[in-house]
This record gives sequence, C-alpha cells and structure tokens, in this order.
Amino acid sequence: MTDLYAVIGNPIAHSKSPFIHSQFARQTNQSLHYSTILAPLDGFVDAVNHFKSGGGKGLNVTVPFKLEAYQLASQLSQRAQSAQAVNLLKFENNTIFGDNTDGVGLVRDISINLGFPIKGKRILLMGAGGAARGVILPLLNEKPLSLTIVNRTLEKAIALEQTFSSHGELTAITYKELTGRQFDIVINATSSSLQDALPPLPAGLFATDALAYDMVYGKKTPFLNFAEQEGAQYLADGIGMLVEQAAESFFIWRNIRPQTSVIIDQLKKS
Ligand code: NDP
Repeated sequence: MTDLYAVIGNPIAHSKSPFIHSQFARQTNQSLHYSTILAPLDGFVDAVNHFKSGGGKGLNVTVPFKLEAYQLASQLSQRAQSAQAVNLLKFENNTIFGDNTDGVGLVRDISINLGFPIKGKRILLMGAGGAARGVILPLLNEKPLSLTIVNRTLEKAIALEQTFSSHGELTAITYKELTGRQFDIVINATSSSLQDALPPLPAGLFATDALAYDMVYGKKTPFLNFAEQEGAQYLADGIGMLVEQAAESFFIWRNIRPQTSVIIDQLKKS
C-alpha cells in the first residue's frame, strides 16, 4: 500500500517539497505519495486531523503553522522543544510526534555540502523569528567561537540570548552595533529578501574567506548581492537547507537516508 505524506501551509502552491520527496522515494524504492495541503489560516488542526483520519503517515509544516504544529504534537523531540516550532509531524498509533529539522538542515548544508567548518568560527545570525530560533542550538552544538544575533526588534534577539546562552557564547546586538565587527559566517534568517529589502548592514562585515548564507532561495537576493560587493568569498542560498531538512524528515518517517546532492544540483539548475 502507498503511504501518504504531505506538506501543509498557506500559501503552498510554490512548495518544492513534493518534487524533493518524490525524488527521495524513487531513489530509495519507497512506496509513498507526497502532496500539498492548503489549510485555511484558521483551519490548521482540522486539516491535520482530516489528513490523519484518511490514513496520512506524516506532514511537513511550513509558514504560518509551525507554532500551531508545536502545540498540537503530543510528543516532541529535544530540538523541537528548544526551537518551540515544529516542521515535521509523524503519526504513529495514537501519538503525534513533532520535530524540527530546519537546524540540522542548515548545519549539514554549511558543513557538508559547502564544506565550510563551523567550529571555531565567528557567526552572525540575522533575524530572531522562527527560522533563527530553530537553528541556534544546532549551530551552537558545532562549537563556533561566537554566535551573534542581530535583529530589527532587539527585544526578540535578547529573548533568544537569554534562552540559549547556557549552550555557548551568544550575544544579541543591534544593527548599529555591527559597525567595526567582522564575521566568518553571516546567515540571513530574516524574511527581508522576500521583500527585496536589505537590513542595514555596515561595510567591512565579512572576514577573509567568509561565507554569506541566505535562507531564502531561488533568486540572487539583495543580501547576497551586498555580500558579493563586500568581498565575501562564498555565497549560498537556502536551497541546500531546504533539501537537507527534507532528507532528515524522510529519514525520520522511513528510516532510510536519501542522497541530497543530486537533487540540490537539479533544483539549482531549474
Ligand atoms: P518570521 O516571520 O518568524 O521572522 C522574520 C524575521 O525577519 C524577524 O526577525 C524580522 O524582524 C525580520 N525581518 C523581516 N523583514 C525585515 C527587514 N526588512 N529588515 C530586517 N529584518 C527583517 O520568519 P521565519 O523566521 O519563519 O523565516 C525567515 C526566512 O527564512 C523566510 O524568508 C523563510 O523563507 C526562510 N526559511 C528558509 C528555510 C529553508 O529551508 N531554506 C527554512 C525556514 C525558513 P522583526 O523581529 O524586527 O520583525
């Protein structure tokens, strides 16, 4: 019998997840069908229950439902608890298991696919929303020299500093305070690129051989253009993170790890 999976969000039509998971299934000879579910903004739980009662085995959850998924799960992984957001649900017996695979997706993309070691590096994380929150602990687990969080609304960055500072060297600052500082890895976890906007970054931010990483994918963003002009050595968008978080989801559901590099290359060309 074909097992049913889907990605649920609003909007959802643009999602690349059905393509990625169908490639994973083909590669690993798994019999599954992966579709999209457009849930009404006030109808997430009903949509999940409907899918589950129809025999659905698992869901990926995207904007704007990651917090509701976190609240719905009856059992949470440690990384979902620390992220306070869930992008994966697995239905088994009477349990709704919630996990967050975004952070491990980012770390794998940077350290394995891009071959850029995180250990000992000075990292700047821009943004303090759900995506930033989900990647802090996985980044700190890689033992960077320091992790600095900058956000337009400073209070949100300070709240993250307070939550995670026991796990590593973590500081929250304003964009103005960036002047005169340098970083080896600068990660844009804001949604500014979706608005074609650039946060107020000063010149001289990138150290020699620095990596500039934008979680948004599919276009050369204002942030990556800025990084190129500023001499950042390596530029990457979030397509590798997307495929890696999908691979981790696939592994949790099917207990088999798919190959990601071929699919990342395919998506980069499309
Ligand atoms: P949220 O809405 O939770 O947070 C948005 C963040 O962006 C906030 O920190 C906000 O600051 C900041 N922000 C928005 N506009 C600007 C701006 N013009 N200048 C400076 N800061 C700005 O979004 P998420 O955290 O869920 O997602 C962030 C991005 O990450 C999205 O673009 C999403 O597409 C991408 N993403 C990519 C993934 C991948 O697999 N590649 C996975 C997950 C997310 P403030 O707090 O001041 O409002």
